[in-house]
Amino acid sequence: MHFTDTVYRNPYWPTFPLLQITQGCTHNSCKFCTMYKDVPFKLQPIEWIEEDLKELAEIVPDAKTIQLLSANPLCMTYDKLAPILEMINKYLPKMEYIYACTRVTDIRNKTVEQLKALKDLGLREISLGSESGDDWTLERVNKNCSASDIIEQCGKLTESGIDFWLCFLNGVAGKEHSMDHAIHSAEIFSRCKPMLVGTGGLTLFPGTPLLEEAERGEFTPLTEKEMLIELKVFVEHLTCDCYFNTHHTSGIHLSGPDFLKRKNKIIEALDYEIRYGDMDRLAAIRKNKRTL
Ligand code: SF4
Repeated sequence: MHFTDTVYRNPYWPTFPLLQITQGCTHNSCKFCTMYKDVPFKLQPIEWIEEDLKELAEIVPDAKTIQLLSANPLCMTYDKLAPILEMINKYLPKMEYIYACTRVTDIRNKTVEQLKALKDLGLREISLGSESGDDWTLERVNKNCSASDIIEQCGKLTESGIDFWLCFLNGVAGKEHSMDHAIHSAEIFSRCKPMLVGTGGLTLFPGTPLLEEAERGEFTPLTEKEMLIELKVFVEHLTCDCYFNTHHTSGIHLSGPDFLKRKNKIIEALDYEIRYGDMDRLAAIRKNKRTL
């Protein structure tokens, strides 16, 4: 297999075979991200993709699922992407469920009809690394996408029938803008109605512009307690039913389906953690994190 950069597997789909169709990230400039920092973006040669599919056809000939790599494999135009999905179906004829992470902006270059055609070829689920629904925050961390982009592109996905996730990056707006980040993200995500809302907490990694800004006093990171308060405000304002998933380091179990039925319990659990949680332990866990 031609894996040419670090492989980030979706931990919720641990058994999906992996197929790399791009390398790195087209944007590679979000101020908090180190994932593909030293990897130039490129499309994988189509010969490599075909060789990898031949290999997968020998190892898992009955595969019904697959995850596409790397950071944003759906950046390709429809004309480039559709033949790859056709090739997947040719070598893995039982294929039913193609999954990929990608940027919100990668949906821009496809029409609803093209998205429907990609769905017919098996593209069923996409994780969108949105991080926020607040325009100030999106610009502050150089996400290169706006709240109206998120609404527009998610609307196209909904119309095409492709399921999607939206991700909230807890803490990424810093102290001054924390509440706007929480409230506006919840409002925008609620309008988009994703199948899943995922939340993760900001860790400032060495080599990121955001850490350098924090060291110069230009960005004030949240404390662990402030992260929990922000997360609670986000949850309070989230009104769409979805699977709710959190990677918060507290270890309290908040993830699961039927968000609206569980919303009050999630808020109660967060309240408890805010009052009685061991914040030093949370900070120590975060310090040991190596990637987003
Ligand atoms: S967060 Fe995603 S879009 Fe931003 S630089 Fe990292 S991989 Fe690329």
